[in-house]
Amino acid sequence: MTDPREKTPGRGTVDPATPVYPIGVAARLLNVHPRTLRIYEAEGLVRPRYAGARRLFSQNDIDWIACLRSMIHDEGISIPGLKKLLALVPCWAVADCPPEIHRNCRARVDLSPERCRSCRRGEEEEDRRDGLPCRS
Ligand code: SF4
Repeated sequence: MTDPREKTPGRGTVDPATPVYPIGVAARLLNVHPRTLRIYEAEGLVRPRYAGARRLFSQNDIDWIACLRSMIHDEGISIPGLKKLLALVPCWAVADCPPEIHRNCRARVDLSPERCRSCRRGEEEEDRRDGLPCRS
């Protein structure tokens, strides 16, 4: 697997967990229509932060969405299929992402039941510090 995050511009300038990109900028960075990002959000596949009514995406969100699009378009996984898979296993298992990439990836997404149990034990702050999206 090539690292889809390599395709995303803007990396390395701000804390990757900080939500800084309005939807129009995020869409331009990913070369998609803003509607696509709203669909991913509605499907629960990405969770931007809100400043009032404005969605803001972090670099981790951008990197994650690049991976998401690779799974959808390169691997041919449907959005419903992806949602089911991500409820069972972490993103690196779905994307066949090698350990040398996923171990240090701050955009990684793990919504598996064990991860959700960790959140319920009160580790949400840790998740946010790591920039890990958690939709439990
Ligand atoms: S760990 Fe997940 S988000 Fe990170 S590169 Fe691998 S598949 Fe993508």
